[in-house]
Formats: sequence, structure tokens, C-alpha cells
Amino acid sequence: MIFYGNELVQQTLRQMIQRNRTAHGFLFYGDPGLGKKTLARRTAAALLCSGAEKPCGVCKSCRMFQDGVHPDVICAETSGKLGGFSADTVRQICTDLATPPNEGDAKCCFFFDCDKMDPRSQNLLLKAIEEPQDYAYFFFTAQSPAALLPTVRSRIIALPLGPVSEEQCRSALEAEGFAPQEIQEAVGVFHGNIGRCKDFLQQEPIRTVAALTKSAINSIISRNEYTFLQAAAVLGKQREQALLFLTLFDRTIRDAMARKYDASAACIGCDAEGAARLSERLSAAGGQAMHLAVDKAYAAIQANVNLPLALSALCASCMDAC
Ligand SMILES: [Zn+2]
Repeated sequence: MIFYGNELVQQTLRQMIQRNRTAHGFLFYGDPGLGKKTLARRTAAALLCSGAEKPCGVCKSCRMFQDGVHPDVICAETSGKLGGFSADTVRQICTDLATPPNEGDAKCCFFFDCDKMDPRSQNLLLKAIEEPQDYAYFFFTAQSPAALLPTVRSRIIALPLGPVSEEQCRSALEAEGFAPQEIQEAVGVFHGNIGRCKDFLQQEPIRTVAALTKSAINSIISRNEYTFLQAAAVLGKQREQALLFLTLFDRTIRDAMARKYDASAACIGCDAEGAARLSERLSAAGGQAMHLAVDKAYAAIQANVNLPLALSALCASCMDAC
């Protein structure tokens, strides 16, 4: 399977593996949906592979890896309310790493979604990362590189993943069998983020949030506060959806502002048409005020303020701003 985009990162990894000079620790970071885990798994599969073209996909190791039964692959499990890694989990992994690999000459250890990994667990792991066994490799993924302590980060290679081009994204989605019309819709919302486009195509709630965001943008343009409040009422029932709404809404306002200065500016929001119309009536100060109102709503939701309240405050500020 092709891994689209992020050519520089892919090239770095390929060269390391070809020259047999691979780092022992990696952090793949970036927004959700950009393929951090996929690339971590692929790199590990290449290290474990005994074929010529790594990962070959057909050797014993590759087959075990694909079936999720490779004995030299350790995937740290998250636990607790925050979804971090417990001290026990980390200790268990350190113990496991003390014994050499069963199959080839590598043992690969995954720590996915490290944004909630606490400093204590990281410190427990530090020794294993600082002086790794020859065969030990660590793969971390996180949204921000700051998820890991500077002491951990200094011992590993941090690789940022970005979105792919919209064209690459379309190819990736076509290869998975999605229809051109629905692909167009997904790319219009999430652009070069393949994972998020797939979420859009496969998850009704995400399509609903995108539609409500468009409706909110439209209600600002037509000064129909009631429609915005209706959207807010639906979004106010679910925190994750409200947060996604804020992200899409903010990006669309950014598009409207960008269009004031450059009509051909690439869009990052979910409503190119709405952004174009909004840009005609939004002043620079108004756009700034709406950004701030989004920030405020975001902070309020993070602080567990009542969701509908935070969203209706946003609505009032946006109506005032435009
Ligand atoms: Zn192989």
C-alpha cells in the first residue's frame, strides 16, 4: 500500500533503513488523521522484515506483523480515565525488552497517542531509551512534540507529518473505493488530511458537524441568529462534536479573512463558498473578534463550562462582529 505525501520524512526513513543506520527512537507528530501510526507501523515492519525490499509484505516476519501476532512487537496499552500509560505498563515493557528478539534482530515498541503520557511514565522509560539494547526500537506518536519530555525528545528523532496535496488525498480515497462525488465533498471539508476525509466519509456525526458549521457560517452572512442557535443546540449535546465545530468554524473564518487579501488563497476550512461570501462583509477587526470568540468558547469547553451556554455566547459575539 502506498503511503501518500510527506516525501521528505519517507525518504529519511528509507535511507536510514537501507544504510542500516536507523535511530532507536522515533516520534511522529501532527494532527489526527495524517498517518502517524501507519508510518510508525510501516517503519517497524521494515526493521523486522527479512526480505530485500523492506517491508516486503511476504516474508514470515511481514506476515506475522500484518496478522498482528509478531512476537517482537510490543504495543503499549493505555489505561485510566486520561488514557495515558501506567507505570506498570512501562515497567512490564522494560522487562520484556531485556530479553532478545524471538525472530529477527529487532524488537519494536509502540507508544501511540502520547499526548496524555505523564512525566512519571516517561521518566521510567528514559533509561531504556537513553541506552537502548541494540535490538530495541521505540515509536511514539502525538499531536504535539511537546507531549514528550525534553529529555526523552533529545534521544529520539522527531518527524512532523503534514497534510498531503488534495490530489494525493483524492487518489488515496479512490484507491479505497470511495465514489468521486463523495470524495469531492470530503476533500472540501478536510483537504489533504486523508484520515479525516475517511472519517467524514464513514462517520455520520462528522458529516453532521460539517453541515452545521456551514449552516452557522451562512446564518452569520444572512444575519439569522436563530439558525446559528439551532445549530448550537444540536452541537451542545456532545463535547467532541462541539470542539470539531469550533475547529472547522475557525478555519472557515480564517479562509474568509485570507480571501480579503488574496481571492485565490487556498482554503483550509469546510465551506469555500461560505468563506467567499463572508469575506465580502467581514472587516479585519470583525474577523479578529470572531477568532477571539472561538478561542473563548474553546477555553470554556475545556474548562467544562455548560456547552450550549459557551456556543450561544459564541453566536452572540459573531453576530456583533459581522
Ligand atoms: Zn518482509
